[in-house]
Amino acid sequence: MRHSPFRSVVGLCLIVTLAACQRAAPPPPAPDGYDESAGADARRIESDLRFLADDLLEGREAGTRGYDLAALYVAERLRAIGLRPAGDDGRYFQRVPLLRAKRVDGGGSLVIHRDGAATALKFREQFLPQLNFDRGDARVSAAAVFVGQAVRAPELQQDDFAGVDLRGKIAVLFHGAPPRFDTDRHAFYSSFREKFAALVERGAIGAVIVSTDDEEKRQPWARGAENWARPGMRLRDADGRALDTFPQLQVIAQVSAASAGALLDAGGHTAAALFRDAREGKLRSFALPGTIELSAQTRIEPAESRNVVAVLPGTDAALKREHVLFSAHLDHIGIGAPVQGDAIYNGALDNALGVAIMLEAAQQLARSKTPPKRSLLFVAVTAEEKGLLGAEWYARHPTVPRDSLVANVNMDMPVLLVPTRDVVPIGVEHSSLQAVLDRAADEVGVSLSPDPSPQESVFIRSDQFAFIRAGVPAVYLTGGVKARQSGVDAGKHQRDFLSERYHQPGDDATQPIQYGDAARLARLNARIGQSIADAPQRPRWNAGDFFGERFGGLDARASSRGAAATR
Ligand SMILES: [Zn+2]
Repeated sequence: MRHSPFRSVVGLCLIVTLAACQRAAPPPPAPDGYDESAGADARRIESDLRFLADDLLEGREAGTRGYDLAALYVAERLRAIGLRPAGDDGRYFQRVPLLRAKRVDGGGSLVIHRDGAATALKFREQFLPQLNFDRGDARVSAAAVFVGQAVRAPELQQDDFAGVDLRGKIAVLFHGAPPRFDTDRHAFYSSFREKFAALVERGAIGAVIVSTDDEEKRQPWARGAENWARPGMRLRDADGRALDTFPQLQVIAQVSAASAGALLDAGGHTAAALFRDAREGKLRSFALPGTIELSAQTRIEPAESRNVVAVLPGTDAALKREHVLFSAHLDHIGIGAPVQGDAIYNGALDNALGVAIMLEAAQQLARSKTPPKRSLLFVAVTAEEKGLLGAEWYARHPTVPRDSLVANVNMDMPVLLVPTRDVVPIGVEHSSLQAVLDRAADEVGVSLSPDPSPQESVFIRSDQFAFIRAGVPAVYLTGGVKARQSGVDAGKHQRDFLSERYHQPGDDATQPIQYGDAARLARLNARIGQSIADAPQRPRWNAGDFFGERFGGLDARASSRGAAATR
């Protein structure tokens, strides 16, 4: 296990006596501990992480010089490993066109007109307009309808729009989905992409998302509001317009749980009762009295970033036309509100570590004694933190034939802070990749544990979801929950990370990152990649799977071709 030089100085103090030590004036703690016992693989991962998570890269936000430096580093590492460029025009980079939007300070309003009175909520403290990528100056005024969580799932007999007319109205909604939904549908129907699409379909012209008190226990309003000035991004089309936005919703605003009453305490309803109904899955829609007036001012400008793409060509004459796609997002969230004097959000676990693990898996596969039959693509994607944008762009504009993508192996934020015996796979139960993973875990000697917090919906919150929506089965592995040392609660370390350092400046390289476990994760990912690459059949969605049925048409068509190629 790693130990820091600082601790050995303290140890020395106890032996030599405190006074002697004070005279010796020990040097300040050196953060560059060197672990003599680390394996070469663990050391490579540590080295990559220390570079990518350094303050000099300023948090690797998409569209910044810090990110571009990180991308250059990853490209040259892939070259050194012996992988060929597979981006645009024979380069290691794929251009990703973006729009960047920033809120104007105080640039927005939310006024409730009811019973002859006007109530204006305060920008930042009580509400924030969502970034608007379609119009720099947007406003809308209309009657409002509370639509619960804006979920319509006929297969589960859920219709939050029953009995209300949204045409020309502003929808007021909560996040999430009914608690009775299974994990997959809960995750899917919780996404704002689905909710906004449903609102547009029903003719809404604006939306107000109200935070519930349960949500703010996990993500306090103040924490989000203090980063109100942070830019957001969307993909940009050839005409310079934003992709995947909902321009019919002229303004979308968010309201804090503490201010929910101003909107919802009306007509016999109260915000507190509605929060309780949400928890119990009993929300009902109703028209709100009066009208709501919304406005938002946004600065919108073009930006650009890049995915890093490299390929290890397969060795089988037929199968090498197909590709296993490894992905890990290289961006993080950049510079933000200072916390204890530190404004650089380094993103060490999120996701310098995932990229470092992907590079190590690439190294092992490039040196494999039995070179993989299918080709392996390694894509370090940009702008995950802005909404899976780099992965989405790659899924829409793959640099290899679209139906040659047989599977995605994604790595994002493995929380490896105490030595563990296990790994948590996310989303493998949807496809034949479950069997691949079981075998690989056995070979590597690691156990598999179920997702300890399925309610976090991580399956749809990282890059694999962009590929799943393109019909490609995916596997995503994250850190384990069973500590190797008895009496240590690995789950608690994960939860502490999530509440104290996740998306905070404290997610940096000074954390006790377990590089040995990271090396094991790299071996496991490499085994999975090799196994998918060498199998006669490409992976398949399980029959009747929710995501497979919704998105997997491509897979169904292509698997017959894959089978033909092996004959
Ligand atoms: Zn993140």
